[in-house]
Amino acid sequence: MTALDLSRLITAVADTIAAHAEELTVLDQAIGDGDHGLNMKRGFEAVRAEAEAFSAKPLPDALKAIGTKLVMTVGGASGPLFGTLFLALGKEISADPDRANLTSAFGKAIEAVAARGKSHVGQKTMLDVLQPVHDALAKGSSLAEMADIADAAAEATVPMKALRGRASFLGDRSIGHMDAGARSTALLVRMLAQTIGDKA
Ligand code: ADP
Ligand code: MG
Repeated sequence: MTALDLSRLITAVADTIAAHAEELTVLDQAIGDGDHGLNMKRGFEAVRAEAEAFSAKPLPDALKAIGTKLVMTVGGASGPLFGTLFLALGKEISADPDRANLTSAFGKAIEAVAARGKSHVGQKTMLDVLQPVHDALAKGSSLAEMADIADAAAEATVPMKALRGRASFLGDRSIGHMDAGARSTALLVRMLAQTIGDKA
């Protein structure tokens, strides 16, 4: 990946988060405290501000820098978790990853998020999107398929009962709403898939 590609990815992701901030806010208002849209926007705008400097780094260092910035700026429960995702990805990925390396690095990054959140799949969180996307990557799905799988996985959090995060305080009343972090994760996956796909 060239510096230009990475810079373009960062810009595309920050754009999509900004464009959907209100939607994320509304989702988090239903079963949380309504800050997820602003949290994510603040974090990804901070990453965008450093896009040029981050993109000049080798991919592992760039991902670690993005993770550190997200930990510092997103806030809430999701900041350390998204931060951990990128930090762990940066630790595990090679400078020029093939699909096998990307798959194993992404798998380990998801494990790091789960450890940090003391959470696992099925609890109505971002993990419910991350894991199916990883499984799709592992079995050779196309980028477009992965974006669709991410959207379907976010949709599949609607009937779930939240067992982690603020939404879990609502118990059964968390049922019937999409998890905000699952939605933001699906947005990230679609934009990354689309931007990488456009290049290919
Ligand atoms: P907060 O809940 O502190 O207000 P945000 O609103 O920014 O933080 O983020 C909420 C999102 O974080 C949830 O929708 C969920 O996807 C994710 N989340 C919260 N707690 C956990 C956890 N323990 N493990 C995984 N994801 C979590
Ligand atoms: Mg919140």
